[in-house]
Parts: sequence; C-alpha cells; structure tokens
Amino acid sequence: MDKWVLRHNLSLLVEDMAEDFRFDCTKVAAFRERNIRSVMVSPLSVGEKVKGTMKVESKAPSGFSLDDSRILRSICDLGAVVLERADLFQKAQDLAIRDSLTSLFLREHFLVRLKEEIGQAYLTGTRIGILMLDIDDFKSINDTYGHVVGDLVLKKLAIVLNEVVGDTNSSICRFGGEEFTLFIVDCTRDGLYEVGKRIRKKVYKSIVSFRRKHISFTVSLGGVLFPEDGNDPTGLIDRADQLLYKAKREGKNRLCLP
Ligand code: GH3
Ligand code: MG
Ligand code: MG
Repeated sequence: MDKWVLRHNLSLLVEDMAEDFRFDCTKVAAFRERNIRSVMVSPLSVGEKVKGTMKVESKAPSGFSLDDSRILRSICDLGAVVLERADLFQKAQDLAIRDSLTSLFLREHFLVRLKEEIGQAYLTGTRIGILMLDIDDFKSINDTYGHVVGDLVLKKLAIVLNEVVGDTNSSICRFGGEEFTLFIVDCTRDGLYEVGKRIRKKVYKSIVSFRRKHISFTVSLGGVLFPEDGNDPTGLIDRADQLLYKAKREGKNRLCLP
C-alpha cells in the first residue's frame, strides 16, 4: 500500500482489508497480527517529490470516510512542507559548517565540537586523540598537474580519512588549504599512533588518476593526546602543529608524537 501511494503520489482508502481486490491483505502484517480492517494512507509530498507516507489504521471495517481521507491529506500536505523546510534548514546548516570541496567540517565548527568533547572527557576521564596533517609538497602537485588535480588530491585525502576513522567517535575537519585535523574520542596513545600510521600508509598507497596520469602523494602528521599533552583545544592544536612541522623537518611522509 505504501509502495502504491509512493508510486502514484495519491491518497488511498481501503474500507475493508478482508474484501479489498487491489491488495492481498493476507500478506500484510498489520492485518494478520493487529487485526487491522480499514486503512487510509496519504503521501507526504511537495509537488512531485514524495518524501514518505502517513497511515491511519482502524480495527473496524469502514472505519474512515472520504472526508477523513481528505483531512489526512491536508495534514500530510502541511507535514510535507514542514519536512521540506527541515531539509532545507539542514542543508543551509551544512553549508555553514562543511567545506564544499571535501564535505569535511570547517575549522570553526570543528573547534566547537572539540571544545564540547573535551568538556565531556574532562568529566568522564576519557582521552581524546588529535591528529594534524598536511599534504607534502602540495604546491608542486598544483604546479605540475594543475589545480583540478590538486582538488582531486584533497578529495582523495578526505575519503582516506573517512575510511580510517569514520567508524569511530571522531570528527574530521579541513583546517584550511591542504591542512586537515581530526579528533578521536576514547583514544589511547597507542591507538593514536596506530591511526596515524594507517592514515600515512593508506595515503602513501593511494593514487589519484586524471587524464591517464596517476598521481601519488604523501602527508606528514603530528599527534597529541588530551589530557596528557594539554587541556585546551587551541593549545592542543598548536602542539600537534609543532609536531607536524617536526615531521616535515625530519623528511616528510612521517608521523610525530610527543
Ligand atoms: P610542504 O610539504 O612544506 O607542506 O609544502 P607545500 O607545497 O604542501 O605547502 P605550501 O604551503 O607551500 O603550499 C600549499 C599550497 O596549497 C598552496 C595553495 O595554492 C594550495 N592550496 C590551498 N588550498 C587549495 C585548494 O583548495 N585547491 C588547490 N588545488 N590548492 C590549494
Ligand atoms: Mg603542505
Ligand atoms: Mg600547509
């Protein structure tokens, strides 16, 4: 029934499920298990876009009139507009907090989230691992292959970061340009080292293909742990940044922890 309503974008009134010739109601769980006899369903749609359905059931046959069905449709029309607005609001919010190229969080939102998590971790005694990373010789990738390839490299790095830490309680951010940072909640020093190592290796092995050219790239990383290496977000980020530059000085494509 939902499928029918979604497909046709029309309301449906089934007066008696036991008698209805359109649907085999013996297959409907609600009919068998809850003794539902009559149903009305309306689409939640804005124009052609159907976002869902709303269903009202009754245990009595002929439980609903055509007027009831019209009222349900009106409620759904209002509901659909509210849902559409909520979607637009979410999209506008995403635009404000996410980088359009990589879809990763922007710096401001990331710092707010880190501050919140540190406040929480302070109360619960949890550790938070923070990694700061920067693409090595990114300027020469841009200069050699062009900015389009540079952008593909940035996107690829975002994918790798999501693959490595996406399943954990973490947050990833494009800190600016070709610098990225992330935090992982409930992380040990060894865990942070493992994550950093996996990111470095995965980036090293990844390839960006463009017009029959295959481009590889590397990253340098610095990592710190809350509360051992600092208490406040900016102090921790600065410390991770210093370690990142230590990794650069020591030859790039490496990870430095305190
Ligand atoms: P290092 O190994 O020391 O990090 O050197 P680098 O070349 O990576 O660093 P540098 O700071 O000299 O260059 C960073 C470059 O990143 C310069 C800038 O044009 C480029 N860049 C910043 N944002 C973007 C972007 O959104 N797209 C592209 N394609 N390039 C960007
Ligand atoms: Mg760089
Ligand atoms: Mg840089």
